[in-house]
Amino acid sequence: MIKIRLAKHAGFCFGVKRAVNLALKTAAANKNKKIATLGPLIHNPQVTRDLAVHGIIDVTKPQMVRSGIVIVCSHGMHPLVLDKIKRKRVAIVDATCPFVRKIEMIVKKLKRENYTIIIVGDKKHPEVKAITGYAGKKSILIEDTQDVGRLPRFKKLGVVAQTTQSVEKYEKICRELMGKTDHLKVFNTICDATQKRQEEAVHLARKVEKMIVIGGYDSANTKRLAKLSQELGRPTVHIEQARDLDLEFLKNTQSVGVLAGASTPDWIISDVIARIKKMEES
Ligand code: SF4
Repeated sequence: MIKIRLAKHAGFCFGVKRAVNLALKTAAANKNKKIATLGPLIHNPQVTRDLAVHGIIDVTKPQMVRSGIVIVCSHGMHPLVLDKIKRKRVAIVDATCPFVRKIEMIVKKLKRENYTIIIVGDKKHPEVKAITGYAGKKSILIEDTQDVGRLPRFKKLGVVAQTTQSVEKYEKICRELMGKTDHLKVFNTICDATQKRQEEAVHLARKVEKMIVIGGYDSANTKRLAKLSQELGRPTVHIEQARDLDLEFLKNTQSVGVLAGASTPDWIISDVIARIKKMEES
């Protein structure tokens, strides 16, 4: 019998729960209005599909919004895009996660105080695009430890991380940045939900034979969990939903750990576990 160990912190985090509830509440109170998000509200296609059923449509460009309500996603929004939307005849509901909002406020302050701002994150991620917008043109984006070597010296540096970065990588980058300035201000902006999930990923991967990580293929925090488990040498699969699981992966396996990213709904986690149990029965 295969032993399934589900991580304690699996599924919706505080920020995602808040964004989804806010969106659903907005839809329920505005049945006749057009409601849009600019990009997916959270990085889980199954959830965005459910939101579409409630009339919340995910659009790609601000030009596509002419009226109704725009919901700012959990990852925040670039201030220039937000300004463009504010000029239209639309109402705005802000579902930015408070942890992301806090980073936006930190970089705004650092900018006012003339710090060179370093943002550690993935340049394609909407959260990083939004933070960069608040930090201004002189901010520097760092994706990897190697990028630090290429930097000159600075008078004063302020450093923030995308909320879903790896704690270990961020610490390493900050240590290296100490050699680039005499005045370094580091902010621990990796959110608690991310840290707990990363700690559990390592803990669980050490105790089981194989790992299943559930979450959107575009979800930064889910990808990070899968990477952490793989780096420990544990055979790992990243799936979005139960039907993506190739049961061959679990053949001759005694124990499997199940992790889920911060934007994975409980029903998908339950489906995956039910599929594994069903495999055992057949
Ligand atoms: S992972 Fe953290 S920052 Fe991102 S939405 Fe959840 S609580 Fe907010």
